[in-house]
Amino acid sequence: MTTTIQGIAASPGIAIGPAFVIAAEAYVPTKTNADDSQAEVTRFRQAVAQAGEELEKIRLSTIERLGEEKAEIFEAHQLVLEDPDLIDVIEEQIVNEGVIAEYALHEAAQSFVTTLREMDNELLRERAADVEDVAGRIMNALRGRKGSTLSSIQEPCIIVAEDLTPSDTAQLDLAIVRGFVTKVGSRTSHSAIMARSLGIPAIVGAGDRVMSLTTGDRLVVHAAEGRIVVEPDAEELATYEQEQQRYLQKQRELARLKDEPTVTKDEHRVELAANIGSIEDMQHVLDNGAEAIGLFRTEFLYMGRPSLPSEEEQYNQYKYVLEKMEGKAVVIRTLDIGGDKELPYMELPKEDNPFLGQRALRLCLARPDLFRTQLRALLRASRHGQLKIMFPMIAVLSELLEAKQILQEEKEQLLKEGHDIADNIEVGMMIEIPAAAIGAAIFAPHVDFFSIGTNDLIQYLMAADRMNEQVSYLYQPCHPAVLQLVKTVIDAGAQHGCWVGMCGEMAGDERAIPLLLGLGLHEFSMSAAAILPARGQLAELSYTSWQEWSHTALGLSSEQEVLELVASRTQSV
Ligand code: PEP
Ligand code: MG
Repeated sequence: MTTTIQGIAASPGIAIGPAFVIAAEAYVPTKTNADDSQAEVTRFRQAVAQAGEELEKIRLSTIERLGEEKAEIFEAHQLVLEDPDLIDVIEEQIVNEGVIAEYALHEAAQSFVTTLREMDNELLRERAADVEDVAGRIMNALRGRKGSTLSSIQEPCIIVAEDLTPSDTAQLDLAIVRGFVTKVGSRTSHSAIMARSLGIPAIVGAGDRVMSLTTGDRLVVHAAEGRIVVEPDAEELATYEQEQQRYLQKQRELARLKDEPTVTKDEHRVELAANIGSIEDMQHVLDNGAEAIGLFRTEFLYMGRPSLPSEEEQYNQYKYVLEKMEGKAVVIRTLDIGGDKELPYMELPKEDNPFLGQRALRLCLARPDLFRTQLRALLRASRHGQLKIMFPMIAVLSELLEAKQILQEEKEQLLKEGHDIADNIEVGMMIEIPAAAIGAAIFAPHVDFFSIGTNDLIQYLMAADRMNEQVSYLYQPCHPAVLQLVKTVIDAGAQHGCWVGMCGEMAGDERAIPLLLGLGLHEFSMSAAAILPARGQLAELSYTSWQEWSHTALGLSSEQEVLELVASRTQSV
């Protein structure tokens, strides 16, 4: 009988095939005395050296298969082999307690891993997996085992495991392994990241039930939906096979677009950028051919932690993103707290209407200490790439001018302190309040760019809370009134030479993209996964035709009519 198991989508795709279950091997050495401690230390060092050689081989083959960046993880593993907090501790234990190397290794690695897992910092927590991976490799060398169970796989299969280490994942033979499913893990665990780089369907964190599968069970892994179908019947199987073919065909077409410019069929060029909320999103951004970061929501750096991030912490995160983008534009938005985003440790006064209250830039202007720290971090990071600073939730010109004044003061202060700051930082603002959209021409002479935040703009325009299901029918991105506002902003930008982008969800909405193109939007910023489909869609659109049809849409009387127009014109071209 068919059963399904739900896990976390780690890397999209549909895999169909028999399971190959790798049983978790819990080797726990018992405390045993060594005959000769010095000989035991030598044996341990030989095992470390062997692990080092294996890692070097994997590192080189990963560089060949996936490039330098993907191989960096193995450099990190090589560093673990030299880490005195692990290696010296093990050697000391062998000598001081007279125990065998296996026991000392197991004890030291367990305690190191437990400490890392308890850290607040996500990156340090991820390091626990690296230490486990390396310790397992040394253990195998001590026990005279080479390679892993994975090397015994001969037939096409879907791997089912408790977890896969990054080196397991990097070594998967893609000619026979169709996908994998793990019991533990998250979207940001290294095996998930590796799976995305390899382009292999994968589901992680599927829980205990996957470990009750047996080798040979027939599986369908619908990775994008995090669904594992066990023993599908003939009809289900046929449906999934068809879906798999469609998916593969689409992927082949889209993958060709990754490094291509975004251009319509009549050669009009626009830019597709990505929205990010943390540095963990960066790999996905690069894998999907983003031409820029159009929105970095920095408030997530402030959330899920007990206190404000320091200037240094912020600087490091901004620097990381700028460097990863290698000179491509990175729009970083200053703190947008308030509304639905709260910081418990700041104890902000309770408001009756938080979405209409002291949120985003309003809060930053009221708390300049907070604002200045962020601006300093941004300015210092500017020399690592092409930074653009964006202020959210501006309603009136005086807010923009005050924010720019504070930015200027911090710049002067940093220069006085001897810091190096890029001299070409663009400054822009979000357009998410109707007053700013209607009055865009007032702001345009004072900024380099506008980015339209339709998530808020629509809620304020329609007076419909974006979180309230009861009024969600009013949330109409393609309503003529919304389109008219968008046009007002684009026209004001064009008149004053400032470029106009959009970073609200509307920018990645396939129904809205033709209209936005026609209205003259320059930059579309969206979730990374939406970029390649959008590039494919734009390649089939005619800019000149959509200029005309968007104009028609502005004069219609409902969103329904606009959507019908889009549907009819999209089919006819
Ligand atoms: C917006 O309002 O459209 C936007 C991009 O900002 P956020 O969703 O973070 O409010
Ligand atoms: Mg907003």
